[in-house]
Amino acid sequence: MAEIVLEVECLSKRFGALVATDNLSLNLRQGEIHALIGPNGAGKSTLIEQIAGNLKPDSGCIRIHDQDISDLSTAKRAQAGLGRCFQVSSLAMPLSVKRNVMIASQGVAGSSFRFWRRVENENAIVENALYAIRQVGLDDKTDTPVAQLSHGERRQVEVACALALKPKTLLLDEPMAGMGTSGSQKLTQFLASLKNHVPILLIEHDMDAVFQLADRISVLVYGKIIASGDGETIRNDAAVREAYLGDAD
Ligand code: ADP
Ligand code: MG
Repeated sequence: MAEIVLEVECLSKRFGALVATDNLSLNLRQGEIHALIGPNGAGKSTLIEQIAGNLKPDSGCIRIHDQDISDLSTAKRAQAGLGRCFQVSSLAMPLSVKRNVMIASQGVAGSSFRFWRRVENENAIVENALYAIRQVGLDDKTDTPVAQLSHGERRQVEVACALALKPKTLLLDEPMAGMGTSGSQKLTQFLASLKNHVPILLIEHDMDAVFQLADRISVLVYGKIIASGDGETIRNDAAVREAYLGDAD
């Protein structure tokens, strides 16, 4: 089996009496897309925010390879290899794709990124940005203002912004949101190739996309993973069917 890149172990988070993350463990392996699904209020966002470092777990551990990142700041987690997509709204619309990716690659605070600001490293920043833009397949749009791109292409720019920081793993929270049918299909193809560069923990409401893309699916209900496996396994799981009964998700 492929190497584990990201590992969450026995994570718990309470909000008062509510257990939002209930002794939860999961991992992400090299080369895979692991999708996390579950009804509204299941605890998906709470989990992602704990992995990203915006919310402190009550207990448990989060590792990238063998490094414990549980107590690191968001910036230090990025340096340790945790990639997270920037929101569309954070892109500078009048600026080119290249400029946006360059800015994102300098945007992470922390000492090891300080060298990016030195003028003599301008070339290195440009090269790094161009490499990330090639990875997402936007080579022909390098100098195009983001304002002129489609919604889907903007998502690709966001991913390029994340890739410019050379992440070992990527968290994607509802990348299909707001995309039309054809946009979703293109983005699905794109993510299917992206996983070969970097493994993806995917939270997504679009079940077509999830079942097309995911190598593994874990189903979260009341802060617990009630089932985990490939698409076929999840489709046929009685507990999963029950959890989704009457739920529009
Ligand atoms: P999902 O993303 O799967 O819809 P969330 O992680 O947003 O679920 O929420 C999980 C549960 O935790 C919900 O019951 C929600 O109301 C609760 N919750 C989330 N954030 C907070 C908070 N900051 N304070 C109190 N309760 C919260
Ligand atoms: Mg949510």
